[in-house]
Amino acid sequence: MNISQLLHRTALAHGERSAVFLGAQPVCDYHTLAGRVARLAAHLRARCGVQPGDRVAIFSANCTQYLEALHAIHWAGAISVPVNYKLHSKELAYVLENSGARAVCVSPELRDSALDAGASPNALLVFGDTDWQAAVSDASPLVMEDRRPDDVASLFYTSGTTGRPKGVMQTHRNLLATTMAYFTDVDDVQAHDAMVYAAPMSHGAGLYNYAHMLRGARHVVPVSGGFDPAELVELAASVGHLSLFAAPTMVHRLVEHVRRVEADVEAFKTIVYGGGPMYVEDLRDALDTMGQKFVQIYGQGECPMTITALAREQIAETGHPRWAERIASVGKAHACVEVRVVDANDCEVPVGELGEVAVRGDAVMAGYWANESSTQSTLRGGWLHTGDVASMDADGFLTLRDRSKDVIISGGSNIYPREVEEVLLMHPQISEVAVVGQRDADWGEVVIAFLVAADGARPEDAELDALCLDHIARFKRPKAYRFVPALPKNSYGKVLKTELRDWLAKAD
Ligand code: AMP
Repeated sequence: MNISQLLHRTALAHGERSAVFLGAQPVCDYHTLAGRVARLAAHLRARCGVQPGDRVAIFSANCTQYLEALHAIHWAGAISVPVNYKLHSKELAYVLENSGARAVCVSPELRDSALDAGASPNALLVFGDTDWQAAVSDASPLVMEDRRPDDVASLFYTSGTTGRPKGVMQTHRNLLATTMAYFTDVDDVQAHDAMVYAAPMSHGAGLYNYAHMLRGARHVVPVSGGFDPAELVELAASVGHLSLFAAPTMVHRLVEHVRRVEADVEAFKTIVYGGGPMYVEDLRDALDTMGQKFVQIYGQGECPMTITALAREQIAETGHPRWAERIASVGKAHACVEVRVVDANDCEVPVGELGEVAVRGDAVMAGYWANESSTQSTLRGGWLHTGDVASMDADGFLTLRDRSKDVIISGGSNIYPREVEEVLLMHPQISEVAVVGQRDADWGEVVIAFLVAADGARPEDAELDALCLDHIARFKRPKAYRFVPALPKNSYGKVLKTELRDWLAKAD
């Protein structure tokens, strides 16, 4: 089934419902949205020769045309290639070349970067230009192409922190499983709900469009095109029933803003967080300030948004004897996948022991585009090997430690940075922290903490040492505390530990 059936069906049954908003302003209803999508699909075919199975890139920050382009590509039976709009044109060039993109849908301000990256002017569709406007209003609509469950719907390029980015093949089955998993394990969606795209639509947040299409809910693109806590609070008040996906760093900023201005948060429905570690102190803070609105997901491009979830009810169950451990976990397996923790020989490890997270099920990718060797090794034995280190408790709750490549090995002992980060964040004057390993002739690696001081007030090293010694073994205590104005993050809000390690290597 073509995943855009979800849009088509809602347009047939509830065409009059408002579909897309720019800020609080309605842009179009479902009938109009599906019509624009079908005409744009026809235009992709007529102007750029896009056939089923061809790849079409989308290179844009969040905007209302994003959803039109994405569904037009599906509608034409082609494969969408959402590209992080912050990529350099050389990086974009790699993605266009590797995917063999036949066309590129681009926002006007990125047109030149797309041309620099080698996109042919004839294969560029620029959001909102006269050609685009003519297509979405005048072209004769294309009948939606039929797709089989295992046909590829989207190629998602990994961030490539270890080598070249790889194109994750997400099939229509994967996207449907991810959509169903939203209902079973994350949140129910009503027609009056509004999904606001505050995080990049080229990443996980964009995938939540499908569940909201299916339910005929509203899709809100912030006027800023991104994450602005003040704008979100205003939007919630004006559109109501607002849900969003946010990286933990965004949740932290939203909560700080809400607390500072004493904002009314009644109109926020659900805040789904994930994509990186949510520290327990930050979650407690978020719950105190905004109440039970939070659901956590753990996923990766290779199993988008759908490995485990920590439900609102589990977060709310404060009286549970293992509540503290549970809120530090990423929850339990999503309904449509099996999750286990395995050793280097792919044998399941006993309860509570550390190993690599492996996943199997309908949400797991078909493989990497044109990269058989990586596909074979990552999907060996029919299980996705995530590269994440974790343990599973007797109740099935998974606690992530770190990406295996972030683990610090000092004097032969493994140190999981997250454990050290959790402790440092207990200090009231620390607002953000990232712990990495630095090469050391004696120890192999030593622990270095990068910290951001809350309100600029920097605590003494001795105080931080004492805090660590109170909570964790002496060998895990950082050898140095480096205060920085901000941590380097990618456009998805993830801390770039590779960059921190590079700083240290250069300083050496
Ligand atoms: P990406 O493929 O860019 O979405 O990155 C996926 C990686 O982000 C995962 O393999 C994890 O290492 C990390 N991640 C995702 N969700 C969580 C979460 N809820 N808690 C901690 N780390 C997470």
